[in-house]
Amino acid sequence: MRTVFRDDHEQLRESARRFMEREVAPFHADWEKAGIVPKSVWRKAGEEGLLNTMLPEPYGGGGDFGHSAVILEETTRVGASGLGFSLHSDIVCPYLYRYGTEAQRDRWLPAMARGERIGAIAMTEPGTGSDLKSVRTTARLEGDHYVVNGQKTFITNGMNADLVIVVVKTAPEKGGRGISLLVVEEGMAGFSRGRKLEKIGLLAQDTAELFFEDVRVPVENLLGEENAGFGYLMHELAQERLIIALRAATSIETMLERTLQYTRERKAFGQPIADYQNTRFKLAEAKAEATMMRVFVDHCLELHLKRELTPEMAAMAKLTSSEMQGRLLDAFLQMHGGYGYMSEYGIGRAWIDARVMRIYGGTSEIMKEIIARTM
Ligand SMILES: Cc1cc2nc3c(=O)[nH]c(=O)nc-3n(C[C@H](O)[C@H](O)[C@H](O)COP(=O)(O)OP(=O)(O)OC[C@H]3O[C@@H](n4cnc5c(N)ncnc54)[C@H](O)[C@@H]3O)c2cc1C
Repeated sequence: MRTVFRDDHEQLRESARRFMEREVAPFHADWEKAGIVPKSVWRKAGEEGLLNTMLPEPYGGGGDFGHSAVILEETTRVGASGLGFSLHSDIVCPYLYRYGTEAQRDRWLPAMARGERIGAIAMTEPGTGSDLKSVRTTARLEGDHYVVNGQKTFITNGMNADLVIVVVKTAPEKGGRGISLLVVEEGMAGFSRGRKLEKIGLLAQDTAELFFEDVRVPVENLLGEENAGFGYLMHELAQERLIIALRAATSIETMLERTLQYTRERKAFGQPIADYQNTRFKLAEAKAEATMMRVFVDHCLELHLKRELTPEMAAMAKLTSSEMQGRLLDAFLQMHGGYGYMSEYGIGRAWIDARVMRIYGGTSEIMKEIIARTM
């Protein structure tokens, strides 16, 4: 029994589940072929109150991170790996809310809660990902504008985004202490998108390259203090890592359930695959591990709701859950035999979609660095 959620969370889970089953699951395979989720789905989610749930009204649904968690769990249950809702609602919008002025909040957030504007965050560059302090995109102050030059890559929601929080160097000589966050908006001259990147998984997700060539960004689009961006990023990354852990734990449970069903139905040598001791023991081990992971991730969620989740706990949750997911989904796929390798069986898609969980939001190696530093 999970104890972390209240009744209002569970009510939202019900509407999120209905939305996912009605508006997302039947179309996701088509979006995978198209490589993008249509913007109309974002507006529908906005109408249903499924965006920005953790932010106060009128910037969002007036809830807390528990509301975000139930939505992302329901998204994961239907295998909708292409929906960039969580990145928008639980990563990008919280930056705008926490570090934005009242004028900035009013300008951007209500439209984002309605799904009329889509957000992205651009840290990674072709030359640097893990080593965030080494970003090379610059923003030079000229009067009341910053002039931005540089390039970003692997940006989730990159094609659909109307607004991108861009990590820039405002004082390159100061390294990590010279980083700022600037909001670049659709239509600014010199801001362009490159290719929609072809990935091995997350096929419906519009991951893109972004280019900035002498983009004049008004000073009103600076988020928080100049040169304080690195601290903001470090603070917010804990929530991003918890999101990944919640998704990994849910994916393990969902795929365990499917594998149980499949192996009960499929027969070999005259008996269900599920009756072989090898299958029973593997599934029993998986159940024990999935339960242990759920208890730990829920504990992290509880801490986060009390604002007590530390960066190292978030790193532990991301590291252990994504590594466990990779290992267990591989075992589940094996139990499906050849059907596991076919795209139309959910396990194959989930297995390949899971691979990135050990890479983005900080790689497993970087998570180990963060944990090791505190020992
Ligand atoms: C599908 C997808 C979506 C993404 N979405 C976004 C997004 O929306 N916004 C965004 O900004 N970025 C995004 N990313 C980028 C992602 O966060 C980076 O890919 C990730 O942080 C790793 O950076 P890198 O690719 O440059 O790898 P590198 O930093 O080059 O690392 C390569 C390898 O070296 C290892 N390594 C690096 N440093 C160390 C060290 N100190 N000790 C030991 N090993 C080390 C890494 O762990 C890794 O195994 C996305 C990536 C993908 C694949």
